[in-house]
Amino acid sequence: MESCPRCGSIQHVRPKAILIGAASPKKRFDGEEKAGYRRLDQLAVDECDPAELKSAPLEQFVDGFYCGGCEVGFVASGLVRDGD
Ligand SMILES: [Zn+2]
Repeated sequence: MESCPRCGSIQHVRPKAILIGAASPKKRFDGEEKAGYRRLDQLAVDECDPAELKSAPLEQFVDGFYCGGCEVGFVASGLVRDGD
């Protein structure tokens, strides 16, 4: 179990499947910043470690967590790829 990134506690945290984006804005726009583009997903498939993802077509569902105290969903820190 991972602690909540907001309150830092595991008290209200429970496992939850999280739906992530199919592609990050960076991938979608080939690295170009689009003015006014509002990102809806916090995290996208291409930003995750491929070894941690389920195989298609379930790659957008990741094993994450949900903090009932803060009402935020989050994924394990090891899931996100280190910058490139
Ligand atoms: Zn919390």
